[in-house]
Amino acid sequence: MSASPLVKGWCPGARRPMESGDGLIVRIRPHRGSLPVHSLSALAEAASRFGNGQIDLTRRANLQIRGVTQDALGCLWDALSALGLLDDSADAEAIRNIAINPLAGIDPAEIVDVRPIAQVLASQLAAHADLQALPGKFAFVIDGGGSLPLTELAADVRLEARRERADVLMAVGIATKKGVTWLAAAAPSEAADIAVLIARAILCHGDPGRAHALSPQAVDAIRAELGLPELPAKVVDVSGRTPPQRGLLALQGERYAVGLGAAFGRIDSGTLATLAEALARLDVTDVRLSPWRTLYAAIDRRADGKALLETARALGLVVDDADPLVRIDACSGAGCCDATSLPTREHARLLAQLAARTGFAGTMHVSGCPKGCARSAPADLVLIGNGDSYRVVRRGTVRDEPACAFTASEIETKGIELLAKHRSAHV
Ligand code: SF4
Repeated sequence: MSASPLVKGWCPGARRPMESGDGLIVRIRPHRGSLPVHSLSALAEAASRFGNGQIDLTRRANLQIRGVTQDALGCLWDALSALGLLDDSADAEAIRNIAINPLAGIDPAEIVDVRPIAQVLASQLAAHADLQALPGKFAFVIDGGGSLPLTELAADVRLEARRERADVLMAVGIATKKGVTWLAAAAPSEAADIAVLIARAILCHGDPGRAHALSPQAVDAIRAELGLPELPAKVVDVSGRTPPQRGLLALQGERYAVGLGAAFGRIDSGTLATLAEALARLDVTDVRLSPWRTLYAAIDRRADGKALLETARALGLVVDDADPLVRIDACSGAGCCDATSLPTREHARLLAQLAARTGFAGTMHVSGCPKGCARSAPADLVLIGNGDSYRVVRRGTVRDEPACAFTASEIETKGIELLAKHRSAHV
């Protein structure tokens, strides 16, 4: 076990898996943010045959199979290839890092169905070899607005739908140190091309090719090079409210989206296979992935939606935004990662129960070590593993100064003390 975590600076893929404490992590990037239900079944089977049966839903709306051995990797690739989920090369796969709204195309509140933009952008990234020089964590977000916006999801290049009187346009911006700097407005049909231009410009102007590392001068230079129309002022939603994300979400008429979350993003292959069977019985054709580790299925009858929720609840999935597990992030911890001996998720489940008992309604982050893989945003309470103890940060991140510490054996007594003490700030 290492005292200081290894920061790898790249994300796993299918072609380029990452070694972890429980074997190889093989990340699968669905096309246009969704997977056919039959692929979900096949992935569940592949996870149990070629991995350790554990599957993650990631914060970039991908899915990863854990515990794969080197010997099984070739067979897993064959299975992924048959499902159309294996890119030609690791470099091509690494830059296909595009997130879209999970309800794109079925959300009556959306401004633009962004799936065609995502499709064009993916094709452009695959077609231009020079773009493969973009760093592995370089990310695009395409937000068409609607009931499940992607406002909180970080990206180097952000495309966001806006309505300007009778017109609809895509604002295109980059994530600088000061937040998003909007560079251009474009028709939806041109947005993917402009995103590619901007990605290429970031590559030319900055080392290491990330938007947040650009100097203000470089941002100005990119804006001048683009020479695109000025962006109309944006009406900013300052409500700060998170829209309903789980359970039965009304779309239009008798149509619903059912949001099914996985605690800590982890789901086992048996659960996924059973869920896929239930979806197929209800004639659901595909599932959509989201950055908040929740799968969505479109359902045409309320009664079917309720039946699906009951099935999911029985499977241990999170079907209610009020569930304290929604507000707690925990990394995979002991057994999956060599950087800690702490069972972080076991502790996080206990803390979720204690939060319900004490009425603590804030956010929590349980991290096995200071790397903080599970969450980069601040949380109200942060527990950072240090040997067999946790350091505690109040309202911050793993990088902030701890206020106190306790040993793992004190998790229940100290946990309840902390949650009771700080609950008033979040009720
Ligand atoms: S944060 Fe957790 S998963 Fe990440 S390196 Fe540390 S112990 Fe491992």
